[in-house]
Amino acid sequence: MSKRAPFVIANWKLNGGIDLTCTSVASMLNKQFEVKIGIAPPYVYIGDMVSFLRNSNIMVGSQNVSKFASGAYTGETSAQMLTEVGCQFCLIGHSERRQVFLENDHSCHTKLEKALANNLMPILCIGENLQQYELGLTNDILYRQLHQALPGLDLNGKELCIAYEPVWAIGTGKAASTEQVEAVHSFIYQELVEILGVEKANRVHVLYGGSVSKNNVAELLSTPHVNGVLVGGASLDPEHFSEICTIA
Ligand code: PGA
Repeated sequence: MSKRAPFVIANWKLNGGIDLTCTSVASMLNKQFEVKIGIAPPYVYIGDMVSFLRNSNIMVGSQNVSKFASGAYTGETSAQMLTEVGCQFCLIGHSERRQVFLENDHSCHTKLEKALANNLMPILCIGENLQQYELGLTNDILYRQLHQALPGLDLNGKELCIAYEPVWAIGTGKAASTEQVEAVHSFIYQELVEILGVEKANRVHVLYGGSVSKNNVAELLSTPHVNGVLVGGASLDPEHFSEICTIA
C-alpha cells in the first residue's frame, strides 16, 4: 500500500467544554501539520469548533450518530444533522458505546449506512476486551465485528476508517506492543480485502487507538498497515495533542 498522510483523530469523550474548545483551536491554528487531523468533541461544541476551524483543514467530527434518520427518538442526532452543521466524520461503535450503551455489530452496520449516505466519513471502532485477549480470541472478535458491520455498504466514492482499539489499552497507559499492532492490523487488512476487495480495502485508513501519546505515536505510525491514530486522554491536553500531530 502506498503511504498516505496519516490521520490523527482526537476523541474527547465526555470531557472538555468551551474552554478546551478555544484552547485546542488556538494551539492548532498557528501551526502547519503534515497529517490529517480530526477532533471529535461532545456534540454541543461541534458548531463552535466548526466555525473556529473554518479556515483550516482540520476536520471536526462526532463521537456517535443515530441509527435513525428522524422521528420520535429523544436524545438522538442524525447523520444528516451532523453533516449540516459541518461534521466531516463520526465515530461508530466505540467500545464505550458497546459496553455502556449496548451497541452491537448490527446497530453499527445501520449507523455506517446512515453516515455514508450523508457524506460523513465513518470511523468504525473495533477491538477485543481483556478477557477475550487473554483467551486468544482477538482475531475471532475482530472477524465478527468486521464481517457483521461492513458487508453490503455502498462505499463508492466514499471514505471509510477502521480504528483498532484493544479495550484493555484504552485509558490504561498500556498501549499494545508494535508486534501486536502489526499482527492485528495485517489481519484486519486481510479481512478488509476479503469483504471489500483489494481496491476498496487499500483506500480504508486503519487507525490504532489505546493509550496513544507523544512517546509512542512515531513507532505506532511506522508499523505496517497503521494509517493513523485515535487519541483519547492525550487529546485533552492541547499541547500534548499538537505535539502528537507534529511528531506524526
Ligand atoms: P485513550 O483512549 O487514548 O485515552 O486510551 C482512546 C479511545 O478510547 O479512543
